[in-house]
Amino acid sequence: MEIQDLTIKKIHQGLVNKEFSATEIVGSFLERIEKKNKDIFTYIFLDKEGAIQTAKEIDELIIQGRELSLLGGIPFAVKDNILVKDLPCTAGSKILENYIAPYDATVIKKIKKQKAVLLGKTNLDEFAMGSSTEYSAFGPTRNPCDEERVPGGSSGGSAAAVAAGLAVFALGSDTGGSIRQPASFCGVVGLKPTYGAVSRFGLIAMASSLDQIGPLARTVQDARIVFDIIKGKDPLDSTSFWIDDVNFKFDIKELRVGVPKEFFVKGINPKIEKLVKEYIKKLEDQGVGIKEISLPHCTDYALATYHIIMPSEASSNLARYDGIKYGLSVQKAKSLKEVYSRSRQEGFGEEVRRRIMLGTFALSAGYYDAYYLRAQKVRTLVRRDFKEAFEKVDVILTPTSPTLPFKIGERIKDPLSMYLSDIFVTAVNLAGVPAVSVPCGKVGQLPVGIQIIGKPFQEETILKLGEVLEEL
Ligand code: GLN
Repeated sequence: MEIQDLTIKKIHQGLVNKEFSATEIVGSFLERIEKKNKDIFTYIFLDKEGAIQTAKEIDELIIQGRELSLLGGIPFAVKDNILVKDLPCTAGSKILENYIAPYDATVIKKIKKQKAVLLGKTNLDEFAMGSSTEYSAFGPTRNPCDEERVPGGSSGGSAAAVAAGLAVFALGSDTGGSIRQPASFCGVVGLKPTYGAVSRFGLIAMASSLDQIGPLARTVQDARIVFDIIKGKDPLDSTSFWIDDVNFKFDIKELRVGVPKEFFVKGINPKIEKLVKEYIKKLEDQGVGIKEISLPHCTDYALATYHIIMPSEASSNLARYDGIKYGLSVQKAKSLKEVYSRSRQEGFGEEVRRRIMLGTFALSAGYYDAYYLRAQKVRTLVRRDFKEAFEKVDVILTPTSPTLPFKIGERIKDPLSMYLSDIFVTAVNLAGVPAVSVPCGKVGQLPVGIQIIGKPFQEETILKLGEVLEEL
């Protein structure tokens, strides 16, 4: 096994035991990135100098015999919609192509404190809108398992970087599946925390009532280590919240696992269905109680509801890119209005403009009641589905995606088919509950993920079950 494929704990031990230095580790990652990034395009921006500098500081600490935190010297990547002070932050958009972040997101501050080594910023669908990373203004990322295929999205760059060993872990953001779906497509672990568990300060907003930052990693244990560092109340994000469960207990034999019947009927690839069901059967053979449950509004209405609420919030969040305050600003305009309209026209890609138009429409005076208000009501029904299910079970298991990673170009001209890849993941954001995608096998060389959904703030329960699934 090469250094780039080791877990956080293994690298930590190696550093502490002086088997290798932080500089050597970073060097080996940069070397692999050099070789592979041109083919799969996971990184939009590499911070070589910054990475080497942090690694030197770590080596100095080790020489001085100072204690090293678990993340100290661990190379990681960040989705390019999360702000890192003095580095570019493009959100995958032309409109922010030359934007330099003036401050660190809270998650970055927390990770920097641990002295993890930031390698660079990863590719994403423009403003995190998409399921394949093809909507990036800078070109698509390719799936390391099959370069003809997409890595999923919108955190496709982060997922592909971790899968290809170009980072030990990465941060992504998940508004409607953007951590879990690419994790599933690339064969890595991806955690979307409970809404509020991780501060959103410094995340470029897409849909504020749905957005969450979370980790992508090769093992559940690595995802947990990162989550434990980034979670918690932040005075800079009034929606952030955390309470430690001091009475936490996990006994797999007592765990009540729910499998929603609606998730296995609608257009799911039979090979994915077979793999996931085999997994559930294996759990049952170990004495785990499996119960069929129903989430009646989730598969029928959640995706449609998401596609009203998300563009409504996004259209309002994206109003700030007006050619004056941030990024791209057209020159030689005849009026201020022309600066606004032409900067937005030239700066935003087609998918972003489509969503701004849909959101503006759904929020407009004549249609608000029929669309936005109605969608909020259905959102309550989706939340209620989960609440009622969680009275009977402790966790819910579903496939993460109904399809295998599709070919580059296959869905880009058909937004509806692109949206349908998120059918199993968006309900979780509407309900605000946590969920993790864990690899559960492959069809040929293409990975398949299983999604474990938990009660609010019970990340540890879904991660513990994730570890059991990892071993099956
Ligand atoms: N794929 C979904 C979309 O296109 C999710 C995006 C996200 O989670 N950021 O909206």
